[in-house]
Amino acid sequence: VAKSQGRNRFSHFTNALQQAAQQRLRLITDLRSALANDQFCIHFQPIVELASGHIVKAEALLRWQHPQRGMIGPTEFIALAEETGLVNPIGSWVFREAARWAKRWAGLHGRGVQVSVNKSPVQFRAEADDSRALLDYLAELQLPGNSIVIEITEGLLLNAEAGVIERLRKFREAGIQVAIDDFGTGYSSLSYLKKFDIDYLKIDQSFVCNLAPDSDDLALAEAIIVMAHKLGLKVIAEGVETEPQRALLCAAGCDYAQGYLFSQPLPPEQFEALLGLRQAGGGEPTAL
Ligand code: C2E
Ligand code: MG
Ligand code: MG
Ligand code: MG
Repeated sequence: VAKSQGRNRFSHFTNALQQAAQQRLRLITDLRSALANDQFCIHFQPIVELASGHIVKAEALLRWQHPQRGMIGPTEFIALAEETGLVNPIGSWVFREAARWAKRWAGLHGRGVQVSVNKSPVQFRAEADDSRALLDYLAELQLPGNSIVIEITEGLLLNAEAGVIERLRKFREAGIQVAIDDFGTGYSSLSYLKKFDIDYLKIDQSFVCNLAPDSDDLALAEAIIVMAHKLGLKVIAEGVETEPQRALLCAAGCDYAQGYLFSQPLPPEQFEALLGLRQAGGGEPTAL
């Protein structure tokens, strides 16, 4: 009896494995056709200049409108896209789409809205051949490079290969700015900060969520801000959800902040309403 029970349990286990494998295959198949079927979209999360309260930047965050499963976030499919090589055409699409919107907002309030795009380490390395095409696209749009920020992570710069360094240099030459995303969660080495031309540190939300007077997280945030400023970098705080967090960061001299306190990531039309370019209820956009 015990033996057959064991076998039974084992077959349950293999069934579950088989199901997971099947779901994965299914998702890969769907992912392959998602671009052609126009199922991706970008949501924009405003980034606020703390001193003025103005929206001066926005982060482009990828979304997949799956026909059966609904809206899927990037953490659920970026790894699959990387394994299958699909991250290349998808990343290229995100960049172009972000640039198109940045172009539309370029004249707004005389300063425009700088748009940032995420690139995972695998994606950044895999895309090497596309950088020329992306820069050509900016030229075609007549969009200055400094309308775009590339968000990368510390891991990419630790022992960076020649190809990575060269590609970063090309982006910088074109005026594109560079931000270190999720700062503080990766490697403890800070030496890359002086080796590479970086513009922004984004303090990870794990340091922001427990910010309180006299807390260790506040001490860390303050130290990061002082260090960044001494190196000539600006600081963006991620995941700001409460007014006390905003006030502490502002007092600490943090330059920019993003988070649910200001707004969730929004579809482009709603983001434009927030910018004052449309009526909140929809309707025709104001001409720019
Ligand atoms: P990230 O670049 O660190 O983006 C910030 C994430 O925090 C976003 O999750 C955003 O929706 C979420 N967030 C924003 N404000 C708050 C807040 O106040 N509280 C909390 N708890 N969360 C907040 P999302 O959109 O699910 O993106 C997750 C990650 O996926 C991103 O982290 C980024 O690393 C990656 N990602 C997004 N778009 C792309 C893309 O186009 N390409 C690549 N390679 N990765 C992307
Ligand atoms: Mg990011
Ligand atoms: Mg981040
Ligand atoms: Mg993050």
